[in-house]
Amino acid sequence: MSAPSIVWFRDDLRLSDHPALSAALGRGRPVVLLYLFDEESAGIRPLGGATRWWLHHSLAAHAAEIARLGGRLVLRRGAAEEELPRLVAEAGADAVFWNRRYGAGREVDARLKAVLRDAGVEVASFAANLLVEPWEVTTGAGTPYQVFTPFWRAARERPMREPLPAPRDLPSVPGVASDDLDSWKLLPTRPDWAAGLRETWEPGENSASRRVERFAAEGLADYHRRDEPSVGTSGLSPHLRFGEISPAQIWHRMHGNLTPAARRNVPKFLSELGWRDFHWSILYAHPDLATRNYRAAYDEFPWVWDHGPAVAAWRQGRTGIPLVDAGMRELMSTGTMHNRVRMVVASFLVKNLLRHWRLGEEWFWDTLVDADEASNPGNWQWVAGSGADAAPYFRVFNPDLQAKKFDPDGEYLRRWVPAEEQLAPIVDLAESRREALEAFSTLRR
Ligand code: FAD
Repeated sequence: MSAPSIVWFRDDLRLSDHPALSAALGRGRPVVLLYLFDEESAGIRPLGGATRWWLHHSLAAHAAEIARLGGRLVLRRGAAEEELPRLVAEAGADAVFWNRRYGAGREVDARLKAVLRDAGVEVASFAANLLVEPWEVTTGAGTPYQVFTPFWRAARERPMREPLPAPRDLPSVPGVASDDLDSWKLLPTRPDWAAGLRETWEPGENSASRRVERFAAEGLADYHRRDEPSVGTSGLSPHLRFGEISPAQIWHRMHGNLTPAARRNVPKFLSELGWRDFHWSILYAHPDLATRNYRAAYDEFPWVWDHGPAVAAWRQGRTGIPLVDAGMRELMSTGTMHNRVRMVVASFLVKNLLRHWRLGEEWFWDTLVDADEASNPGNWQWVAGSGADAAPYFRVFNPDLQAKKFDPDGEYLRRWVPAEEQLAPIVDLAESRREALEAFSTLRR
């Protein structure tokens, strides 16, 4: 048998538009399809509860689709720098292919590339998970953009990759041992808090393609109302998070067959997708985005760092501020929250409660099914004022006015906080806003 290649799947759990897989199959040799669960490598942030749940189901769906095509997904667990070379030796592989990542994992990838190449193994990495590679879009001075609008103007002009087709069959390499997915214990048991996630989501590539089709046919025409939490947006973020669909596939679908009403909303929708790329390009330049203020001036900000009763009330949706409570309960129940409401609950935490944005970022990391290394800290810092192209700190959302404006019939509020469950507010919105602005003025001094 000729030496096999290894395709290493990471946050790209799909078979279509998978450049690394296409390249490996193009060699005409057997291919070992690997997923490596790595929580051990330096810098890798262990997944939160909601993303572990998603990963389990996404891997199950991926393995089933691979099996349908005659192949087998090999599951291994451990530090990539130990496990991957071990598998190369075990399988007698002479090539390894992967799609690039842009967060903490890229250092691991760079070291692995060097080690494997030194050992005579061919290694190739591919662009697959962003619209543009972070280093392709830079200012005239060659530095990364710090402001979204010029970033997006430059990014959207670049030629977009044509998505690749999925393979028709996948030859399997016999004799390579695999872990049992259940042994990784990614799913919650006692208590099983995932009932709402199961009702809301169906992880996997097939589900992601159906969702983009349904959105193109039904949701996109209403996308100009995206700020209203009772009007749905695409719901694609967790599928993108795990790479069950690529941004290039979404981009091309948005340039395909659409009604005129839907087509009018395409530029806005694609620019939202552009924010995802923007945050990844920021993370690429600032790998410590989750732990450090992007703008160092905010290091002096008198944020409170505690997990006391106010933060507990915020997490549980028991602040007595209806829109905040609705959002936090939606999050606990479904693993997601509407974008506008995310901004409101985040503003409430970092401004009205004056708590450090990292406390909120960590809670979202644990509870969101779409939590990722770039968009989660990037958006938290955006709301807190400390981030790239951030909302000015003095713009404090008033949750009650936001509810009146974006949920005028109270549909969203009623769904998550029935009238009889409303509590007394834990803070006075006007007074806490004043205190937030005072805290901000100390920063300016
Ligand atoms: P749509 O409106 O349909 O947008 C399409 C896609 O564009 C999304 O799937 C997403 O990939 C991208 N997108 C849209 N808005 C943003 C944005 N502001 N930043 C980055 N990408 C965006 N998004 C995440 O994917 N992961 C996170 O961990 C995350 N954390 C957030 C934390 C806070 C405090 C806030 C305010 C926002 C956060 N977002 C995050 C951004 C945004 O809320 C979600 O991407 C969006 O709600 C997902 O719903 P959708 O797929 O229906 O969005």
